[in-house]
Amino acid sequence: MVKTINSMPRIIVIGGGATGCGVARDLVLRGYKTILVESGNLGSGTSSRSHGMLQSGARYAVTETSFAAECYRERNIISKIFPKAVNLIGGLFVRLSNDPEDYVEKFLQCCEVAEIPTREIQVGEVLKIERELNKNILRAFHVPDALIYPKKLFDLLAKEIRAYGGKILTNHQVVSIKETNGVADSIVVSHNGVKTNIECDGIINAAGPWASKVAKLINQNVELELTRGCGIFFTGQLVKKAINRCRIPNSNDIMCPSGEESLWGTTSEVVYNPDTSVTRPDEIKKLIQGAQELFPNIRNYKSFRTWSGVRPLVKPKNINKNLPIPRSHLVIDHKKSGLDNFLTVCGGALTTHRLMAEDAVNKLGNKFGINISCSSHITSLLN
Ligand SMILES: Cc1cc2nc3c(=O)[nH]c(=O)nc-3n(C[C@H](O)[C@H](O)[C@H](O)COP(=O)(O)OP(=O)(O)OC[C@H]3O[C@@H](n4cnc5c(N)ncnc54)[C@H](O)[C@@H]3O)c2cc1C
Repeated sequence: MVKTINSMPRIIVIGGGATGCGVARDLVLRGYKTILVESGNLGSGTSSRSHGMLQSGARYAVTETSFAAECYRERNIISKIFPKAVNLIGGLFVRLSNDPEDYVEKFLQCCEVAEIPTREIQVGEVLKIERELNKNILRAFHVPDALIYPKKLFDLLAKEIRAYGGKILTNHQVVSIKETNGVADSIVVSHNGVKTNIECDGIINAAGPWASKVAKLINQNVELELTRGCGIFFTGQLVKKAINRCRIPNSNDIMCPSGEESLWGTTSEVVYNPDTSVTRPDEIKKLIQGAQELFPNIRNYKSFRTWSGVRPLVKPKNINKNLPIPRSHLVIDHKKSGLDNFLTVCGGALTTHRLMAEDAVNKLGNKFGINISCSSHITSLLN
């Protein structure tokens, strides 16, 4: 256990993406003195470059059933505590003739295990609503997928962090972390070229794809599998619901509405640099080909924008090339490598950011002998 202190510990959270903001929110709700440090604006990393889905979990039901169940529980919690940031549009999993027939049964069974409600809809009914969809789809299943609006989510998270006394420093980059006798006791931040020292009792590293770089500042190792994903926005609303291919999750298999636009994606490619963000012409070509299988008239819609982001996934021990890299999160306690008050939280998804935060703050509490239970799933100060 970390040294005993008389008042609540001062905790620094590094990284103001969904994970870091979720951690800071959970900390302030439990009464910790909290400073969130973000090198850009809140959400300016991967969190603003996602597909924007509050996942029902159905996508991962077959390949990672426990993560799928987490997604559905979190989808329900987030839509209750932050309804203004969520649109419960619903989703469809549709089977084309080149999607494996036996996947459907596995999909339905695994959704049941994960307690994700599914309902088969007659193809004719689906095509009345989703007019751009390939008329040759064979089967369709409704799932409770939803959309999440990152900008609204970050506004709500920031308001709540501040309302409970937390401090948020944006455009402050952590450039070094200092240690005394196995305890991280301060950080140095750089803001407009000016460096400032901030003391603390504990640190949670939530720097997403940059978590390894941040850990290196204090000679710690964090092994991530960075996968870059890109997608494409089409003008016009092609779909009313989030439409997924009914097959093992892969590249090129989801279209969802986004205001007056539609987002198609994404890809997945292992990268070694978290700052890799340019979309290549060959990727755009493949994305359009993939979209055309599900939406034969896609070329009538002018594509005007691509986006890409880097997923901070936990490096798996064994990689199965036929399956997606696992999405479940990990909280690393750096005590094993000599640093007692430093945790890293990585992996997961935007959908599960609250749960990741709960897990990290529980583990931090154990270190300080603080047993205040989590309330981030019930608190809704701003509604
Ligand atoms: C293409 C794509 C599509 C996706 N689609 C979905 C989806 O539909 N639904 C879903 O649930 N998930 C989705 N995800 C996953 C999800 O976006 C990520 O898991 C999540 O956003 C990661 O959040 P994070 O806070 O961990 O990382 P980030 O959002 O990257 O936050 C880390 C922050 O740390 C900051 N930082 C880094 N270094 C420092 C430093 N030295 N000092 C201070 N700050 C620092 C960065 O500026 C950044 O803002 C998708 C991901 C990708 C790439």
